[in-house]
Formats: sequence, structure tokens, C-alpha cells
Amino acid sequence: MSNRDWLDRSLKAVWHPCTQMKLHATGVLPLVPVARGQGAWLYDFEGRRYLDAISSWWVNLFGHAHPRMNAAIRDQLDRLEQVILAGFTHAPVVELSERLAALTGNALGHCFYASDGSSAVEIALKMSFHYWRNHGQADKNHFLCLAGGYHGETLGTLGVSDVALYKEVYAPLLRQAITVPSPDARQAETGESAADVARRAATALEATLATRHESIAALIVEPLVQGATGMAMHDPEYLRLARALCDRYRVHLIADEIMVGFGRTGTLFAHEQAGVRPDFLCLSKGLTGGYLPLSTVMTTEDVFTGFYDDAVTQGFLHSHSYTGNPLACRAALATLDIFAEDDVLARNQRFAERFTALLAPLAHHPQARHFRHRGMIWAVDIATDDPDFRPRFYRKALQREILLRPLGTTIYFMPPYILDDDEAALLAERAVAALDAALQSSPLLVGEGLGVRA
Ligand SMILES: *Cc1c(COP(=O)(O)O)cnc(C)c1O
Repeated sequence: MSNRDWLDRSLKAVWHPCTQMKLHATGVLPLVPVARGQGAWLYDFEGRRYLDAISSWWVNLFGHAHPRMNAAIRDQLDRLEQVILAGFTHAPVVELSERLAALTGNALGHCFYASDGSSAVEIALKMSFHYWRNHGQADKNHFLCLAGGYHGETLGTLGVSDVALYKEVYAPLLRQAITVPSPDARQAETGESAADVARRAATALEATLATRHESIAALIVEPLVQGATGMAMHDPEYLRLARALCDRYRVHLIADEIMVGFGRTGTLFAHEQAGVRPDFLCLSKGLTGGYLPLSTVMTTEDVFTGFYDDAVTQGFLHSHSYTGNPLACRAALATLDIFAEDDVLARNQRFAERFTALLAPLAHHPQARHFRHRGMIWAVDIATDDPDFRPRFYRKALQREILLRPLGTTIYFMPPYILDDDEAALLAERAVAALDAALQSSPLLVGEGLGVRA
């Protein structure tokens, strides 16, 4: 089968996510068929290759077809593929829960499982509300979220998100959270540091908590990097202050580390950089090294005890069919093994220094604004009023064997943790070339490029 065959069949039968399908049909956005992956590279059916610089939508950590990941999943496949987790348990889910708890210094010693990030956020929201209800405070049934925050696409998670593109249409269906200012460091005025911006945002948070805390169950944040809104980065000072305010006003702190967890920001978990712990930690994406869908909500002894009772309805009766799937848990265990065996965080730190230097031409590009970097995430805003910048850059990058999907006019890099020096140099060089080509090219040529024509 050729690329063309798979594209035709896909466009007929597969409704692709986060996509206006007509843009594929007309060729404005190319659809790329993938036959196999190896390391950082994706290969199509005709031998073309693409460097996966966004880790397959922020999930992949150690590249595709990683031998140790593959071996662990194969081994589990011959033992147990799936079993109900209500009333039953199995080795991978027990070991994973113990090891994750240990990685939080046992501050978050109870793991509740689901299959995707949005479900984890839903669980944290429900648990927080239910905890207060179990303590006779059912009025605490509202949530606080940050401007520009993103926590998923289900109705509950859209209610605590603030990205208009995904949310606006569904507004009549949502129970809207209270939005407080983001500590996004790009808001710094002359002479202000990122920590100053964080303190300003925390002051606004305090004003809201002071008047409304009796009706608020939890504050939900993406620690250090707000991803979907365009890789907005903030100082850890915000998390320190938010933690203190949540304690003072008896409001839970939910850390949505679905994107930033597992080394993305330089530490295993982003909240570690603030020296605080949340009441709920939502994890997914990198949890399985990008292999299988799995998410977890980790929480404290205090929250767990709040549900522990003779009354069944005081318990947390939430469930998903594939909760704690053994194959996914084994993939997660293999991920933790690789972190430990390969000293991944230290390697990433050395890589990040080199890659930041390689990105200097992009950072200093005349149309680049707010170049920023934390851990294994790099982002830069492009000053352009071209409404087609995003698809144009995307295509120019693909033509240069690079998979980069800008968020609006923000170009970001979130590579797997295994790029070698040649791959890093190739990525940095071709990203600038793609940017120049995108900025220079005149109105979008429909069907251009990739050797894949609509
Ligand atoms: C991706 C993401 C989610 C949603 O996870 P899904 O698995 O796509 O449902 C939630 N929060 C953050 C911060 C994310 O990046």
C-alpha cells in the first residue's frame, strides 16, 4: 500500500482529532501516514521520514520502538493483559503505585487510575468536591483556574480551562470555573522579574480566595508551563504562594502535571521546583513513555481518609473500564526504570544547554519574541499577522523532515529525551529555515509539498 492509499482510506473512515477535516481534504493541512517509528523518527510508507520534535503530542519520552519498553510490554502480554481493578489487583498496578508514591516522598501515597489526562482531571475535581462534602462543606463546589489554563476536552475539564478555541462553542454546556490571572512571565513590565509577575498574580488569587473561599473546593494549575495556551512559562514562586494561600483558605491545590510531569521541566515533577506538594497530582502522557493510555491521580493520606468510612456513598465510586490496565502499568514501570538506569534528568540537562545554544539563531530571529525555555521545552512567539502562519509553517517544517505544530503563532519544541547531537543540530537548523520559508512564502499554495497531493 502506498501513502496515497492510506490517506484516501483514512479521510473516508477516520475522523481525526483537533482538526477541521476539510483542511485535509483540500490539502491545506497535509495528512501524514506513518508506517513505523524508530527513535526520534517517524517513517511513511514510501520511505520519507519526520523528526518527531513534539514527542507525538507530548507523550513520547524515549523515542519510538525503544527496546526496553518493548521488552517489558511483551513480557507483560504473556502474563496478564487486563483485569477488573474493582475487587481485584495485580503486580504492575501495586508496584507502580508504590514507586510513584516514593517519588513524591510518600506525600502522595494513594493512586487512583484512569486511561487519559482529561479523566484524571475529572477525578481530581470530583474527589476534591466530594472530600469537602464528606466534611459537611458541600458549599465548596466551585473551582479556580488560571487564565489560559488547559486541562482537557471533556465538559468538566473545559469548565476549568480557558482556551477559547476549544471551549467557546460549548460554553452553554459548561459549569464555568472562576478564572484568576496567569503568572505568565511574558507579562513582565520594564524592571519586573518573572517572580514579580508571579507575586502580582498571587495577590489577585488572594483577593478572590479572601471573598469566595467558602464556596471554592480547589485551585487547578499547570505547574511552571501552561502548555496548550502557547507554552506560557512562570516562576516557581507562584506555586509557593498559591500553596500557602490554599492552606490558609482551606482550598485544595490540584497540580495538573499531565504535560509537565516526567522530566519535561527539568525535575521529575514540576512542582518540586517550588518545594511544595499539591493535594492532587494528575499524571498521564509521559507516564507510560508515550506507549499506552494511562493516567493517575495521586493524593494525600488526609484526602484518602476523608473517604474511608462505613457508609458506601462516602467512598469514591468513580470508575473506568480499563482502570489500571496491566500492560499500561508495565509500560509505566519500564519508564521509571529507564529514568533510574540512564540518569535521564542529568542527560537532559546537558542536552538542554547544547540545544538552547543551537536555537540562538531562532531566538534572535528578527520576528522572534519572548524566546523561553524550561527543562525540555522551548518556545518562541513569532510576530506575524499572517492568519495562515500556522499551517504554512507546519508544511514548511514537514517538507524539511521536521514535525513541529505551532500553537497559534508560537513555535515550540518538546523533543523526546534521546536526540543525539546531529539530530539536535538538524532540528534547530531546519526550524529556522522553515520559519524563513513560511514568512517569505506568499498565499498558501493548496496541495503544495510532501509529494502527497489532494
Ligand atoms: C493533554 C493535557 C490534558 C488532557 O489529557 P488527555 O489525555 O488529552 O485527555 C490535560 N491537561 C494538560 C495540562 C494536558 O497537557
